[in-house]
Amino acid sequence: MERLYLSPPHMGHLERDLLLDAFDSNWIAPLGPHVVGFEAEMCEKLGVGHAAALSSGTAALHLALLNLHVGAGDTVLVSSLTFAATANTVIYCGAEPVFIDTAPDSWCLDPGLVEEELKRCADSGRLPRALIAVDLYGDCCNYQALGTICARFDVPVIEDAAEALGSRSQGKSAGTLGAMGVLSFNGNKIITTSGGGMLLSDRADWIHNARFLATQARDPAPHYEHTHVGYNYRMSNLLAAVGRGQLRQLDSRVAARRAIYLRYQEAFADMPGISFLPPAAGCEANRWLTVVLVDPEMFGASREDLRVALERMNIEARPVWKPMHLQPVFAGARFVGPGRADDLFRKGLCLPSGSAMRTGDQERVVEIIRTTHGHTRKVCGGRRRKEE
Ligand SMILES: *Cc1c(COP(=O)(O)O)cnc(C)c1O
Repeated sequence: MERLYLSPPHMGHLERDLLLDAFDSNWIAPLGPHVVGFEAEMCEKLGVGHAAALSSGTAALHLALLNLHVGAGDTVLVSSLTFAATANTVIYCGAEPVFIDTAPDSWCLDPGLVEEELKRCADSGRLPRALIAVDLYGDCCNYQALGTICARFDVPVIEDAAEALGSRSQGKSAGTLGAMGVLSFNGNKIITTSGGGMLLSDRADWIHNARFLATQARDPAPHYEHTHVGYNYRMSNLLAAVGRGQLRQLDSRVAARRAIYLRYQEAFADMPGISFLPPAAGCEANRWLTVVLVDPEMFGASREDLRVALERMNIEARPVWKPMHLQPVFAGARFVGPGRADDLFRKGLCLPSGSAMRTGDQERVVEIIRTTHGHTRKVCGGRRRKEE
C-alpha cells in the first residue's frame, strides 16, 4: 500500500514554469526578481507593509529577536506548545525562554497567564524583551487580549505564524497580528519552497535591518566593510519562483485542508473518545493539520495505539508537538501554567491532512480508526483478560 504522508508538498504546473523561468534567466544565486516579486505579492495578499524572504522560518524568528536587540541576560516569553525552532531562536540570541501554557480548550497560549507573568516581572523590575505567540495548527492566538496586555508593559509581540498562512482573525491575516510576523515554507507547511521563510512587519526599518543582517551585514562600500555580525539567511531566487507559484494557489490549498478537516469531523461525530478542540474565537483557521484528541478510556485505545495501528497500514500520523517545558534540552527553563499542554500532548494525534490527499485515502484513515475502536471494544468490552 502506497505510504500516506501527514502533509506532503503539493506542487503544480505554475511552480514548474516559474522555476524554469528563474533557471533560464540565470538568476540562480540569492536575490533576483523572483525574491522581490514574492515579497511584494505576499505583502499584497496578507495586507502588510513589508516582507523579507529568508532561508527558513527559523531564520525569520532569529532576525525578529535581533531586531528587538534580544541578547544575553534577557528573557523572552514563548508558547510552550510549539515546535522546538520557536524556542531555539531565543537560545541563539543568548537569552532565556520562559514557557507559557495553553489556554483551556486551545492550542494557543493563555493571555491570562501572560498577564500574571508580566505583572510578576514588572514587580521584580525585569521585564521580558518580547513575547513569541504561536498560531498552532493554524489556530490564531487571542491577539486582542495579548496586544492589550503586552502594550501595558511595553513588550512587543512576535507572531509565529509558520503553520497559519491563510488563517484570518478579527478581519486580519495571520502573520500580520503582532509587531512582526513569521512564515515558514518548509516542505510540510501549507505552501512550500522546499525550505524557506519570511519576516513580515509594517515597520520598514525592521525589515530593512533583517535584509541587511540576512546578507552578511555588508555596509555600503566598494570593498567588504562590516560593523555588525551578519548571517547568510536570504532566500534564493529559484526558491522564490516556486513560492510565487505556490502563493497564487494559497486559497485553494486552504479550502482543501478545511474540507479534509470537515470530513474527519463528520466521520468521527458519533465515535466515543475521539474529539476536536473547539474553533478558536474569532479565527478562521487554515486547518493546516487536523488534530484529534483520543480519550483512552472512552475510545478503548490510546493515542499511541492508534498511531501504531495507522503506521502498520503505512499511514503517517504524529503526536501533537511535545511541549517545550517537557523537553530535556529546556529542563532548566521557567514554565508558567497548570500543564494543560501536557494533556494535549498525551491525547493529541495529527492525521494526514495534505491538500492533495484523495478522498479515498482519507476514507482509508477513517476506516482504520473505526476498526481500531471496534476491535478494542471487542477485546476489552466484555470479560477482561486476566493479565490486563
Ligand atoms: C515549521 C515551524 C517553524 C520553523 O520553520 P522552518 O521554516 O522549518 O525553519 C517555526 N515555528 C513553528 C510553529 C513551525 O511549525
